Amino acid sequence: MMAASSAGDVYGRGMTSQRARDRLVARLRQSGISDERVLAVIGQLPRHLFVDEALASRAYEDTALPIGLGQTISQPYIVAMMTAAILRNGVPQRVLEVGTGSGYQAAVLAMLVPQVHTVERIDELLYSARRRFRRLGLKNIRSRHADGNVGWSEEAPFDAILVTAGADELVAPLLRQLSEHGVLVAPVGPPGQQQLLRVQRDGENWVTEKLGAVAFVPLLGGVV
Ligand code: SAH
Repeated sequence: MMAASSAGDVYGRGMTSQRARDRLVARLRQSGISDERVLAVIGQLPRHLFVDEALASRAYEDTALPIGLGQTISQPYIVAMMTAAILRNGVPQRVLEVGTGSGYQAAVLAMLVPQVHTVERIDELLYSARRRFRRLGLKNIRSRHADGNVGWSEEAPFDAILVTAGADELVAPLLRQLSEHGVLVAPVGPPGQQQLLRVQRDGENWVTEKLGAVAFVPLLGGVV
């Protein structure tokens, strides 16, 4: 990946340099992230390209940042935890993300799994995310402007589904689009009491595990 000709530009300098990414990785390690595959990708991927230029100098802080239209790019720690949770039992072949946002989580996934599908309900965000995927030469991401509450049935089943917006309950159509041994990771619960859940399907058996307290923007309906 990262076939972009202006490599210096893509990889950044100063607050957006490789040293800044290395410091973020060290911090994530201290926070308990131990999956080396995930850490390596976060160490490579230029997160500053996924936020507004005015915020680029803060892109390697371990914090969520606004991306416009009331939405946020998730905190790197949360991205790392969610990604590690779907890689735990091996690399899934096909992954669906609900809530493309900036495209950062989709890009992280695209560097680790063969095929990523991602769905976003706000067209403006999706178009910016697509530009970033092209700039970074990420060709294994398919994206769609749609309401992710219904998943992406034409492309199902998925070996992993990652939901990056919070709902009160697990979304049933998404659970149904998991493959036989698929994994879903999603923030669930009322605002202020969200838990990150990991649901492992084994045929007709579903095992749910809590990964910790989180605070995601809401999973809404319809498209804009
Ligand atoms: N994964 C993103 C974080 C996005 S924040 C990133 O890495 O930057 C959550 C995103 O979910 C927002 O962009 C929001 O518009 C989107 N969203 C909320 N409800 C949705 C729905 N029903 N379908 C698709 N996207 C949705």
